[in-house]
Amino acid sequence: MPELPEVETVKETLKTKIIGEKIVAVDVFYESMIDEESRNYFKELLIGESVTDILRYGKYLFFIFNNVSIISHLRMEGKYFIKDIFEPRNIHEHIVFTFESGKTLRYHDTRKFGTMKLVKTTDLFEIMSEPELKKLGPEANSPLIDINDFHSKISKMRIKLKTALLDQTLIAGLGNIYVDEVCYLSNLHPEYPCNYLTLHDSKTILDNAKYVLEGAIKAGGTTIRSYTSSLGVTGRFQLKLHVHTKVGCPCEKCSSPIKKIVVGGRGTYLCDNCQKMNKPLVVGITGGIGCGKSSVSKYLISLGYTVIDTDVISKEVASTSGFIESIKIVFGDEFIENGTLNRKKMGELIFNDKDANKKLNSLIHPIIKKKVIEEINNCNQKIVFVDVPLLYESGFDDLCHKVICVYANIDINIDRLMNRDNLTLDEAMVRINSQMDIEIKKQKAHFIIDNSLDLCYTYNQVDKVINKLLEMRK
Ligand SMILES: [Zn+2]
Repeated sequence: MPELPEVETVKETLKTKIIGEKIVAVDVFYESMIDEESRNYFKELLIGESVTDILRYGKYLFFIFNNVSIISHLRMEGKYFIKDIFEPRNIHEHIVFTFESGKTLRYHDTRKFGTMKLVKTTDLFEIMSEPELKKLGPEANSPLIDINDFHSKISKMRIKLKTALLDQTLIAGLGNIYVDEVCYLSNLHPEYPCNYLTLHDSKTILDNAKYVLEGAIKAGGTTIRSYTSSLGVTGRFQLKLHVHTKVGCPCEKCSSPIKKIVVGGRGTYLCDNCQKMNKPLVVGITGGIGCGKSSVSKYLISLGYTVIDTDVISKEVASTSGFIESIKIVFGDEFIENGTLNRKKMGELIFNDKDANKKLNSLIHPIIKKKVIEEINNCNQKIVFVDVPLLYESGFDDLCHKVICVYANIDINIDRLMNRDNLTLDEAMVRINSQMDIEIKKQKAHFIIDNSLDLCYTYNQVDKVINKLLEMRK
């Protein structure tokens, strides 16, 4: 079945062959292929018209003439051929356009599922207002796609991921082949429930959709059974497929054999080791500096839960040679002590210098995030907690389904911070004020834990939150 990249290839190839060609005859051998209304004037309005442009949206092709346009959908097996007028007609050529030059454009369709519609306009905006086009979502590889809008729609769908990605009203242009590839590259099972997706999952899906579609367009599409070189173009993307049609082949990431299952009636390929169905509910823990957030994490660990500590990961990252070299280049040798980051010196710099803070974050956050994702994927529990002091500031909230914000009364908070880090009141205030206002964090979070009183009071609140979280992953 031709998908967006194949239709794009057909469009680009046809553009080199028929722009400017004038129609002198139209022969329709299978009338049902043409939309019922435009069937009445299809031939009449096309004769005498010249092709001025060929456009595409999703899997639809638009032939633009001087006064009218054809909206064509190839469905399962549709193909266009350019042939000389004298070549005999193949039995599967259902519509033949003859040009003044002696060339013919022939629509070939063994299964007769393709459709054509003539519209009395050449204006793209008006064409896009046709009912079948109006309902289409943004193209999956469009740079204009709004990630928050996409996430808000898909995460409300109580269906399987593959079914949602094939739904052209959500995003247009992804079909069976490329959805399998996108799910694989995103480490998401094709049957994963859409309402379990995090914002980060949605971003990964869109990034991979763009990557896969653009790669396929560059390669001229994928040549498998139903899409062949009708116009003398052979797609080469089949050489780059990771899972589709690769049943039994080793996964490129983990060497497990690629499997084939059926999702929504469609043959679906995946690595069920990399694309796990059961992923944990990811819960971020954040709070103001010195609020005693670590007591919540320690309690969760004592209950047997996994808490991924980004402070620990950040210390590991800080001693890797690649990171040390980047620090030397960006900040200078004086920030490295005994082969590792001088955290106190760096702390003093970034608490007073926003630009330096940004530079440090852009170096370290992507590496930490990658490690956190690895640890989440390796966790076999129902819930996994991720302790991130600057969760919102560093954009780690997109990895989380839910967020817990731990806070303490400001006076207690200052006291704890001064004692913990041996700081003066002024130094403690600088650190507190350098972070996002705790009130904003509380508003953004799904659960709030007041850590101002004794630990018993805190643990009690944590127990209640855990019960609610367990309800969500029943
Ligand atoms: Zn794998």
